[in-house]
Amino acid sequence: MPTVVFVHAHPDDEALLTSGTMARLSERGYRVVLVMATDGAAGLTSHEISHDHNLAQVRASELTESCRVLGVSGFHQLGYADSGLDGQADVPAGATRFADVDPGVVADRLVALFEEEEADVVVGYDSAGGYGHPDHVQVHKAVQRASTRFPRAALLEATLPREPMLRVVRIIRSQRWAVPALGGLDLQTWQHAFTPRSEITYRVDVRPFIAAKRASLQAHASQAAADDGPRTLSALLKLPKPVFRRVLGREWYRQVTSGDPVRAGLLADAFGPKYSPRRRRADRQ
Ligand SMILES: [Zn+2]
Repeated sequence: MPTVVFVHAHPDDEALLTSGTMARLSERGYRVVLVMATDGAAGLTSHEISHDHNLAQVRASELTESCRVLGVSGFHQLGYADSGLDGQADVPAGATRFADVDPGVVADRLVALFEEEEADVVVGYDSAGGYGHPDHVQVHKAVQRASTRFPRAALLEATLPREPMLRVVRIIRSQRWAVPALGGLDLQTWQHAFTPRSEITYRVDVRPFIAAKRASLQAHASQAAADDGPRTLSALLKLPKPVFRRVLGREWYRQVTSGDPVRAGLLADAFGPKYSPRRRRADRQ
């Protein structure tokens, strides 16, 4: 059974970026493995939840539920601390911020996991680290390094197309809407965020798996329960179902390497067909 290993930075990143693909692959008979780098404990949450429970434990049980609804058959926690968006998050004694670790050390651990899981495809992040979170940049670096030492597996980067994201951010800023995650960063960041559309290799239609994606997002309930302003997850979960399907019905990947010839054939089945942005009318305007 072919195995696809997804490496993510924080609990809920798998839900936002790749959960539809994970559900699709597990239904098609692939082994889906999730490697989670941090416990996500620096994420914002409601006062009530952080007061009553250990946030890392809450995140872990949410992640277990997300894995269950997505059909994940192997799960590994690297156990680093969430570095926070500024890379300076307070961490418990003895814990290490993920972004402070030498990427080579993380890569060593990933190579061992890729071998153990007999990975055919590995999925990391784009070089911008999406919108630039230091833990996402670290995932990019570590997975890329590990991939050069495990060349038989294909390497993909989970991403979003930059241009439509930038358009949405411009509209939000011009309207002065308070939209979490999008409004707080400057335009400069978004001009370099994620991946130009022309470099995207696969646009996976996950609309048939949108219920699993929604369930995965819902599993991360503490993320949606922040009391210091609306959060991305809760905003998304409040969308009417047809809008949710439209906004989150596709997932995006850039192919970096195709692995050995056996794996190259796998990619077309698992993620294909290849995306061709030139066919899109919106881009010609
Ligand atoms: Zn993240």
